[in-house]
Amino acid sequence: MPEAVANIGVVGLAVMGSNLARNLASREGNTVAVFNRSPERTRTLVTEHPEAGFVAAESYDEFVASLATPRTAIIMVQAGRGTDAVISELVSRFEPGDIIVDGGNANFHDTIRREGEISPTGIHFVGTGISGGEEGALNGPSIMPGGTAESYETLGPILETIAARAPEDGAPCVTHVGTDGAGHFVKMVHNGIEYADMQLIAEAYDLIRQGTGKSPAEIADIFAEWNTGELESYLIEITAEVLRQVDADTGAPLVDVILDSAGAKGTGAWTVQNALDLGVPVSGIAEAVFARSLSSQRAQREAAASLPGPDGGWVVADADAFIEDVRQALYASKIIAYSQGFDEIIAGAAQFGWDVKKGDIARIWRAGCIIRARFLNRIADAYAEDPELVALVVAPYFRDAVAGAQQAWRRVVVAAAQAGIPAPAFASSLAYYDGLRAERLPAALVQGQRDFFGAHTYQRVDKPGVFHTLWSGDRSEIETTPSSH
Ligand code: NAP
Repeated sequence: MPEAVANIGVVGLAVMGSNLARNLASREGNTVAVFNRSPERTRTLVTEHPEAGFVAAESYDEFVASLATPRTAIIMVQAGRGTDAVISELVSRFEPGDIIVDGGNANFHDTIRREGEISPTGIHFVGTGISGGEEGALNGPSIMPGGTAESYETLGPILETIAARAPEDGAPCVTHVGTDGAGHFVKMVHNGIEYADMQLIAEAYDLIRQGTGKSPAEIADIFAEWNTGELESYLIEITAEVLRQVDADTGAPLVDVILDSAGAKGTGAWTVQNALDLGVPVSGIAEAVFARSLSSQRAQREAAASLPGPDGGWVVADADAFIEDVRQALYASKIIAYSQGFDEIIAGAAQFGWDVKKGDIARIWRAGCIIRARFLNRIADAYAEDPELVALVVAPYFRDAVAGAQQAWRRVVVAAAQAGIPAPAFASSLAYYDGLRAERLPAALVQGQRDFFGAHTYQRVDKPGVFHTLWSGDRSEIETTPSSH
């Protein structure tokens, strides 16, 4: 058996695990044990990276023996059954006080379950969201650990060494998010926001291309220009790169030869499913998830391709003015998407009993992760000014930003509808904004309908109490106790 010399270990050495292990090994003071179910991966990693000084194990027994106590192991395997299999191997060998970290993309409900099963053993289980893809894992991801505060005392300093650092202040992009599934929940919402951000950018591109006739390369220049202002973000930056790319085979812009069916791995859908359970309207994120689903309905799209749209072509009269309108619509819609995402975090924290600091979440998303953006500083500032902020969109900075953009936003949504160009995320974000600021909503009529067919009762604006109209009787109103329907 090897000596217990490693202060941290990684199980699962596919692309994410090996990059994370290399990142850990490159930091002062770390000795990293590595193990993979199929030993070939372990051998390849160790052979290709002698500089890392890995302690390689070919069995769970060897792996556990190579870890100094209290042991800390990060699992980076296929989420789901793979994670459960590795956990059971580690739990049977670990001791109270040891720490098992799941860095995969677990569903937070699974994380809560696993924590509940493991905590009676005295072993800490820390479900941890990790964002930034392979590149982030190697050079600095954004890390969202849940689990006990006690486990973070050991784990936090290690994670801080490998996390991305915010360009503004050099702060590591990691914080203890909350207990049990909080880290994976926040990672899930991060991905939901990512879906919305990507869809909004795609809609902006489509409107500019169809409205002005500009080429992908010209639109790449527009995005590159936008990336010097308030929209500055990784996703805007890579959009310019993708639009500029020319296909080697055909000489056409790559974006024109990529099949227009967007895939999804499920975290966007989870964000929406949980938002539905929590009663949080994340309409921008939902539209982004649905837009991907629609794009993949090849048979339906083919069958519907002959359905009528508006007559005639569409060219905007003033291309520069339209592009500026689209930029503003994008910024306003993006604010709504983040506002909705943070609403879901607030609701999840309340539901599951997590003390999540919203400002800290904005801070750890400033670098390393896919939605990293200059704008996150503004979100951190907004929560620093008012930790109990009721909605991000009403914070002074964001209120002013949306107020300044709203006329342009409306013009873009109108133009898209008239031209027959789908802009579901732009349009639903605007509808959400108008719904939120409306003094009166037609929800009053919905309540009347519900009372009519189901005696679901309603409240009145002019006096307290719960009421029902005797719709099938003399239509007089009675005061009642709330319906249980
Ligand atoms: P992956 O393709 O999701 O999973 C492959 C790894 O899982 C291999 O090491 C495999 O071992 C191991 N594995 C599967 N079932 C196992 C089992 N029953 N017992 C032990 N090991 C098992 O790998 P990945 O892309 O590197 O991702 C790892 C985790 O990070 C996943 O949860 C993923 O969702 C998450 N993640 C990925 C990204 C990304 O950009 N790819 C970003 C963030 C998070 P063998 O070699 O023996 O088959």
